[in-house]
Amino acid sequence: MKKILNLGTFYMNAYLVEIKEGWLLVDTGYPFDYKHFLRKARRMKIDLASIRYVVLTHVHADHAGFLKKILSDTGAKLICLPAEKERLASGVNVKEVYISKGSMLLINRLSASLPAFQNFDPLEIGGTLDPETQPLAEEGITFFVLHGHTDNDLCFRLEDKIFVGDVCMNGAGATGYSPLWIEDNVALVESWKELVASDADMLYPAHGKPFPKSNLVKYIEKQGRRKIRKLY
Ligand SMILES: [Zn+2]
Repeated sequence: MKKILNLGTFYMNAYLVEIKEGWLLVDTGYPFDYKHFLRKARRMKIDLASIRYVVLTHVHADHAGFLKKILSDTGAKLICLPAEKERLASGVNVKEVYISKGSMLLINRLSASLPAFQNFDPLEIGGTLDPETQPLAEEGITFFVLHGHTDNDLCFRLEDKIFVGDVCMNGAGATGYSPLWIEDNVALVESWKELVASDADMLYPAHGKPFPKSNLVKYIEKQGRRKIRKLY
């Protein structure tokens, strides 16, 4: 079993997955989380140069926040969907989204107006690895794309686990594993069905603790009926 560490904060995971001669980092955090990440890496005696790859599950500021910095400080290769080129170069979250929980609408409207929570260093995608060419097949890692939280949600399978980004959330105010931000709820429900149909056992979300895939089953129908509201 590959070792998995977490250099994230209480609201956002930054998983390190053991690979040959180093680590794969899964997402980053907000831009202001970088200091925390570096402190944690020092404490856990992780040499930054041993981070060989960074996978970006989707383009949101809490995932791509310090992506540009960590890539230049580690020399790691970025694994990111070419289709996300424009979003990554824009340096800001797409705001045409729905909020999945009524009580979180106001706080999300507020945070959506704060650049600290919405912006990240824009990045050109040239020189990155296309996950659909399966660049880490030798490590037993298989990438695939789901949809609904954003237009393209990059996930990957390792052993009995699937790293799902924000396709499911298990913290940060979410209920019933629903991501707080949804771009297409019909697509999201289809993505959940795909996860449940897989033979993986555990789902590793970017927010909150990993949980058994079987937990998701009873929420699929509820998610389809969930009242979602436009952010604006
Ligand atoms: Zn997200």
